[in-house]
Amino acid sequence: MAEAQNISMTHLFIGGEWQQASSDSLIDVVNPSTEEIIGRVANATTADAQRAVEAAAAAAPAWAATPPRKRSEILRRCYELMVRDSEKIAELISLENGKSLNDARGETAYAAEFFRWFAEEAVRINGDISRSPSGLARTIVQYEPIGISLLVTPWNFPAAMATRKIAPALAAGCTCILKPATDTPLTAYFVARLLAEAGVPAGVVNVITTSTAGKVSNAILDDSRVRKLSFTGSTEVGRVLLRKAADSVINCSMELGGNAPFLVFDDADIELAIEGAMVAKMRNGGEACTAANRFYVQRGIAPEFSRRLAERMGALVVDDGVNPGTQCGPLVNAGAVDKVASLVDDARKKGARILVGGERVKRKGHFYQPTVLVDVSPDADLLKEEIFGPVAPIVVFDHEDEAIAQANDTEYGLIAYMFTRDLARGLRISERLESGMIGLNRGVVSDPAAPFGGVKQSGLGREGAHHGILEFLEAKYISTNW
Ligand code: NAD
Repeated sequence: MAEAQNISMTHLFIGGEWQQASSDSLIDVVNPSTEEIIGRVANATTADAQRAVEAAAAAAPAWAATPPRKRSEILRRCYELMVRDSEKIAELISLENGKSLNDARGETAYAAEFFRWFAEEAVRINGDISRSPSGLARTIVQYEPIGISLLVTPWNFPAAMATRKIAPALAAGCTCILKPATDTPLTAYFVARLLAEAGVPAGVVNVITTSTAGKVSNAILDDSRVRKLSFTGSTEVGRVLLRKAADSVINCSMELGGNAPFLVFDDADIELAIEGAMVAKMRNGGEACTAANRFYVQRGIAPEFSRRLAERMGALVVDDGVNPGTQCGPLVNAGAVDKVASLVDDARKKGARILVGGERVKRKGHFYQPTVLVDVSPDADLLKEEIFGPVAPIVVFDHEDEAIAQANDTEYGLIAYMFTRDLARGLRISERLESGMIGLNRGVVSDPAAPFGGVKQSGLGREGAHHGILEFLEAKYISTNW
């Protein structure tokens, strides 16, 4: 732990070196469990952003020309080093984000896996060749790195959201600039160190932290050499960045917010549904874009499901994230707790009954009690907005069509969960749910080998799987004949 806490992060990682930022100001990093400052990081300005683009541009030709096998081996080494240091990384995540050590270990393994997966994808960038329908030409399609990429990541998965972008970018032959979230920058710098140790050449990955994300990102996107923006964060900021990217027609991948419905039918295996609900709701204490946000439970099973979920939620050990027995850590900051509290209060005012929780935890740190609400009114705000906290609102339904209509009644479309023993019904409903991913009798779907992403206002593009590398490649078509 001490080692994790002592990493000096007061410099930016640019061009393979730890460089002084052009401003002296530093950003405090706070442990949400204790509200203590655990570190400080550099505060990049637009001048630093330009230096990062220069470094990425200088490294770009050689990295694009590096043989895929070599890129693959470096990525494989990144995976091995993350596994070697996984306990240190997990502690660091838990310290700066607050999530339980158990969740942080899960995230670290998931994050490392992107390097292993894209090490394998780096050598599978296949084009194709065909005869044109007219018979007059041959159509050759090959893939090239899209170019310098700006990667912007949120605080809720400080390691995995970074590696889910860095690994495919590097596999594709792109150089990049990572701008991690201000709440959780330490993990990103730790990963940057590992990348250098693994042999990622100078300038291929640059990491800059800033308290002026808008200005710094704009400076990067204004440079015509930058050709890609890969963003994970809120839909609100995603919209701002899409508008900005329009100025220079920059290719965008957007992993945005969610409002996941969790459907439980009368015929569900209730044991499985409760287990699924606990992981879908409580992974990261509810601070996940994939978090089950609204539970729609069929009338016959609703009383037992609600009772059992409340029992499980009420029994969770809520404590400092890094304590070994903790099952639910704090939320990331005071604002997050205020938001959760106001959503619960709004639901309560509109008639919801609280089965368990419903209050802030009275102690130092940003804690909120695991909460289950029933009789939630359809106009309660927490059915429409991302709760991003340990709160499970339950709504009862009678008919399949009603459940589907309610599930789809949102601007979001990232993921939906469904529990039924009837596989035909499960698959039929999966096709009718407006969402990029479905957990059918499963409370967790994230897998580096599968395409992660949303429809509607939850995003554009996919991360992971073969789809993930395509986001960093451009198809080139050559028409010829012989
Ligand atoms: P956020 O949108 O506030 O911030 C995300 C990142 O964008 C941070 O690095 C932030 O500094 C930066 N940023 C903020 N304003 C910016 C601007 N004007 N220009 C450029 N960058 C800017 O999101 P957050 O609070 O850090 O993360 C939580 C959100 O992320 C939730 O909505 C969650 O659903 C979403 N999320 C989505 C996925 C997914 O894969 N779909 C995964 C994790 C989190």
